[in-house]
Amino acid sequence: MSAYARDIKDSLTFFVFVATTALCLSFTFSVFVYRLGVLDDPQRFLIANLVVAACVAIPTATIASQHEFQLKRYQRQLESLASTDPLTGLMNRRSFRLAAEDETLRQRRSHSMAAVVLFDLDEFKRINDLHGHQTGDAVLKRIAEIAYSELRGPFDKLGRWGGEEFVILLSNVNRDQAWLVCNRLRERLAQTVIEEGGKQLSVTASFGYEMLTADSSLDRVLEAADQALYVSKTSGRNRITYAGPRLAASA
Ligand code: GH3
Ligand code: MG
Ligand code: MG
Repeated sequence: MSAYARDIKDSLTFFVFVATTALCLSFTFSVFVYRLGVLDDPQRFLIANLVVAACVAIPTATIASQHEFQLKRYQRQLESLASTDPLTGLMNRRSFRLAAEDETLRQRRSHSMAAVVLFDLDEFKRINDLHGHQTGDAVLKRIAEIAYSELRGPFDKLGRWGGEEFVILLSNVNRDQAWLVCNRLRERLAQTVIEEGGKQLSVTASFGYEMLTADSSLDRVLEAADQALYVSKTSGRNRITYAGPRLAASA
């Protein structure tokens, strides 16, 4: 069920709750007055009381449930703003970290492994310098789309780590499988020609990754991936480096 459909269902439930509560209270009150035996025509009183209660309860419940619906919508918009990178629509750092922490909890049950990949666009400053910041923004968006399309939908997570640097969580992979995914993405980026404002642009990326297990510290894994990325940069760019024990130990 979509979030929108869930919000509608919740506000309808809220409507039924408010209206039913008001009618029940009115009915209880009528029965109480009826039992006092002070009325000439208790049936008419009961009916009149229920009609008045319905006239008040239904509009009140409608307004209250609409209000509830709007609140839920604003809440969802706020959640989305707090967890999404505005330029690319990808996860931001905060939501990526939460997803990675969830993954380590899941790994405790499944004993599987995951990989954390950082990739940074090579000499991206030149694109801004030569074609302007707006073109640079369009390229970043396109790179985000390409990277997303190379991953396995909801299983892998993709975020913008900052600037022209992206982060991926590949779940349920070993070291070699992670390398293959990085390489497929590296090749796809290198081969893609991005058409923007009548210009044809191409860009490569450097990658660094480290394995994440149930007992790893996420910060250390990210640091190791960052050091591996640095090795890719200093050894010629457009390549992949696995951090492994050597880089992980120094992270
Ligand atoms: P390297 O291969 O070493 O990574 O070189 P680089 O030029 O990619 O790296 P550097 O750190 O020198 O420059 C990063 C550039 O990325 C500079 C900055 O203007 C650009 N950048 C960062 N965030 C954005 C953004 O949101 N939009 C645009 N258009 N450019 C951005
Ligand atoms: Mg860069
Ligand atoms: Mg960078």
